[in-house]
Parts: sequence; C-alpha cells; structure tokens
Amino acid sequence: MASEIEKVKVLIIGSGPAGYTAAIYASRAGLSPVLYTGGQPGGQLTITTDVENYPGYPNGIMGPEMMEDFRKQAERFGTQIRYGVVTKVDFSAQPHKVIVDDQVEIHADTVIISTGASAKWLGLESEERLNGRGVSACAVCDGFFFRGQDVAIVGAGDTACEEASYLANICSKVYMLVRREEMRASQIMQKRVMNNPKIEILWNTETEEILGENEVEAVRVYNNKTKESNEIKVSGFFVAIGHEPNTGIFKNIIDMDENGYIKTIPGSTRTNVEGVFACGDAQDHIYRQAVTAAGTGCMAALDAERYLAAKELV
Ligand SMILES: Cc1cc2nc3c(=O)[nH]c(=O)nc-3n(C[C@H](O)[C@H](O)[C@H](O)COP(=O)(O)OP(=O)(O)OC[C@H]3O[C@@H](n4cnc5c(N)ncnc54)[C@H](O)[C@@H]3O)c2cc1C
Repeated sequence: MASEIEKVKVLIIGSGPAGYTAAIYASRAGLSPVLYTGGQPGGQLTITTDVENYPGYPNGIMGPEMMEDFRKQAERFGTQIRYGVVTKVDFSAQPHKVIVDDQVEIHADTVIISTGASAKWLGLESEERLNGRGVSACAVCDGFFFRGQDVAIVGAGDTACEEASYLANICSKVYMLVRREEMRASQIMQKRVMNNPKIEILWNTETEEILGENEVEAVRVYNNKTKESNEIKVSGFFVAIGHEPNTGIFKNIIDMDENGYIKTIPGSTRTNVEGVFACGDAQDHIYRQAVTAAGTGCMAALDAERYLAAKELV
C-alpha cells in the first residue's frame, strides 16, 4: 500500500463515454476529478469503426478517434486521467476506499461508477477476425450499414427479438439463428418476429463459421437435429446473446439486479450507498448507447456535485 493515502473529492472509475462526460462536468465544476481508465481506455467504442449516430459529428467518426476527443476534452479542464484498474472497493464508511491495481489506496468523498458492460460473443475465431467488418453486437449501432442487404442474427431472448425486428426495418432479409426448438423471449416478442415476413427463424441452428476474407460474405450453420451444415449468404452477422456489466467488484456492496446491472434511484444516478453514483452501461441494460451513457455521465457529475455541496465537502 502507498504510505500516504491520497484523498480526492471525485473518483471516476472507467473511461468510456459515461466516465469521460462525468469527468468533463466534474472538472469544470472545480472538483478536480481523478479518473481511472481500466483495461480498455476509451471503452467499448475503441473496438468499433464508424460511429454515425453520435450528435455533433455530421460525417460520422471512427470510434477510437471519438474517444480520443472525449479524453482530450476531459483533460482540458484538469481531469487527472490515470491508467489502472480498480480491483477492490470498501464503501462501508466515508470517505470511500478504492484500491487500484491491488496496490494504491485512494480515499474519495464521491465515487462515480462508469465501468460499462461487455457484449457476450460466441467465441469463434472468424467472429473475432471479422469484428467490425460485418460482425457486430449492436443492431441499433450498425444495422444501418447493411440497409437493403441480407443479415443474420444469433440469439433467442427479448433483446435478440427486438434487434431482429429493428434490422427487418432496414435490411432486406433477417435470418434469426436459434439454437433450440424454442425461444427464451416473451410470447409477445416471439410473436413479433414470427409474424414479420422479413424474418426467417432457423430453429435448432448453431453457427459453425462466419465466412469471408476481409468482410462477412456468408455464415455456415449447423442444424443440431438433422446434423446438416448449410451456407447462408449474408453481409452482416449480429450477435445478440447478452451483455455482461463490468460490476463484479461491487457485488454485495452496491445493489444490483439479477444480471449484475447496478440499481440507481429513478430519476438520478444515486445508488443505495451515499456518495456513490453509477452511470452508463453499468446501470443500463435497455438503451446501451454512447449518447445515453454520456447523458447519465453528466447526471452523475451533477449528482456528485450536489451531494458534496449538501455535505459541505466543497
Ligand atoms: C462494437 C460496438 C459498436 C458500438 N457502436 C455504437 C455506435 O455506433 N453508437 C453508439 O451510440 N453506441 C455504440 N456502441 C455502444 C457504446 O459503445 C456503449 O453504449 C458505450 O460505450 C457505453 O459507455 P460506458 O461509458 O457506459 O462504458 P464503456 O464504453 O463500456 O466503458 C467502460 C470503461 O470502464 C472501464 N472499466 C471497467 N472495469 C473497470 C475497473 N475495474 N477499473 C477501472 N476501469 C474499469 C473500461 O476500461 C472502460 O474504459 C457500440 C458498442 C460496441 C461493442
């Protein structure tokens, strides 16, 4: 442990759109925030190519470049950005204790959790190789790139159904690959995809390989009942088998739902622990967009500022 423990007013965990936006607001409010980037500086958008739906970029922008802009803007107002992963927290008393890389201990009056979420993948080599070249885990983000084309989507839950319906509005045909003979999705969502003439559900179907050299050209699927393999021509391949919030270190400390998403008090970013706020995908399994993450990042900084003022800590 460091011999002298550092004390900060605002500690931000995570460097995606939520964390950097919280940093911009907190630093402009004179709160001298410290932000730890975690293992993925810039967050999820650093693994994508074009971002076309973030307001303010009329010609679109590459994800990594956009996150560089976020970082520079946060730094411009004095945010201390540090590389490091928060490995442990103790929120049992004020100030809150945060351990970074199992070594450094920091005491913080307020903590903003913006650790995001990670999409679950099938684990195929071709899926990783073609990620961002036709393979995507976000229909709302990338569906538009495949307008008028045929695509496939894997998944059988409510989100998969919702994303399949979203794609059907843009693409010419959507193959929905379902591993079992039934879906996990609610009846109403199942009905919606089953009644959509542009969606063809392939039951008992698993993905063997995504085909294509530099971009997706087809997918080879396997019917686990008939044991037959088959190639389907598609230019987009969407994986909708769920997301995992990066909230493991807060388990049994912060209230979460059954899937590990942090619960916030409606209309705010407050958690069940005083002085701890949560924003972005770590607390949002519904919208999961950069702009909504940034929006809640702004809310978290304002909530932290008001908390500090009420406690006369500023
Ligand atoms: C391939 C892909 C394409 C996408 N395209 C778009 C798009 O076009 N438009 C759009 O609006 N959205 C898009 N999204 C969704 C968007 O990226 C997310 O909604 C957004 O990034 C969420 O922001 P966030 O700040 O909550 O978390 P994230 O971006 O997930 O960032 C989380 C941050 O927390 C850090 N972290 C995690 N654990 C720790 C820890 N223990 N200690 C310290 N730091 C930690 C990580 O290193 C990371 O910096 C896309 C997502 C993906 C995966």
